[in-house]
Amino acid sequence: MVDHALQRRAVLADLYAGRVGALEVCDASPYLQRAAQRLGVTTDRTCPVCRKLPLDQVLWVYGEAIGDADGTARTEGQVSALASAHPDFAVYEVEVCQGCGWNHLVRTWRAGTPGTQPARRSRRREA
Ligand SMILES: [Zn+2]
Repeated sequence: MVDHALQRRAVLADLYAGRVGALEVCDASPYLQRAAQRLGVTTDRTCPVCRKLPLDQVLWVYGEAIGDADGTARTEGQVSALASAHPDFAVYEVEVCQGCGWNHLVRTWRAGTPGTQPARRSRRREA
């Protein structure tokens, strides 16, 4: 498990000090915001930038072992299901503000069950 809190604090320190602009750090794409709304959970942490809304937190999964799920947002339940069915893949926990677009990596870790079968990749990838 890798905690990205230090990096997050550094970005926020730069923002508060005026070394970077809010536009540079509040760059969540509409796709990321929608994924967080649909598949994520709302935390009790207030957005550190606009200080208006609670942050959403969403999981992204990456790896050859999960086939078509590679590079998609997932609920916690879906990540658990993937982890019990397939070998090693990476999970990225991302926080997103629906208001100002602040987003940052919170934690990353590896998941999966050794000895299980990698998922097949279908020929046609969903856009
Ligand atoms: Zn915000």
